[in-house]
Amino acid sequence: MATNRTFTMVKPDAVEANNIGNILAKINEAGFRIVAMKYTRLSAEQAGKFYEVHSERPFYGELVEYMSSGPIVAAILEKDNAVADFRTLIGATDPAEAAEGTIRALYAESKAKNAVHGSDSDENAEIEGNFFFSQVERP
Ligand code: UDP
Ligand code: MG
Repeated sequence: MATNRTFTMVKPDAVEANNIGNILAKINEAGFRIVAMKYTRLSAEQAGKFYEVHSERPFYGELVEYMSSGPIVAAILEKDNAVADFRTLIGATDPAEAAEGTIRALYAESKAKNAVHGSDSDENAEIEGNFFFSQVERP
C-alpha cells in the first residue's frame, strides 16, 4: 500500500542530546516531507509492544528499557522509495559501521543508542505509523 511512506523515531539518546532539530534538518534536506509528527514518551509496555518482533533477541530487555527511558519524536515521512532511501539516510544499525554523513554516523552514541528508527519494509512502515497515529492524525 503506502510504498512512498516510512516511519521514523528520534530515539531518547538523540532527544536528550538536543539533536531533534539537526536530525529533522537532515530528513528535510534529503527530500522527505513530514506527514505526521509527535513528541511523546513510551511506557515500557508500549516499547515492548512496538519491538515485539525482537522479543527473542538477547538485547530486547535493554532495548525496551532504553526506548522507554525518555521522550521520543515519532513521524511518518513521505518520499518516492521512502523505506529504502530512509534506511540509506540513517546508515547501519551500529554507528561504527554507518557510512559517513549518515544520521547514525553523525548522531548515534552506540549500536543500542543509535539516534533514530527507520522502518525496514512498506508493510512495517504502515504498522508502525498506525501504532502512533490515529487515522485523522495521518492524512
Ligand atoms: N539493537 C541493539 N543491539 C543489537 C541490535 C539492535 O541494541 O545488537 C537495538 C538498536 O537500537 C536497533 C534496534 O535494537 O536500532 C532494532 O534492531 P534492528 O536490528 O531492527 O536495527 P535497525 O533496523 O534499527 O537498524
Ligand atoms: Mg529494524
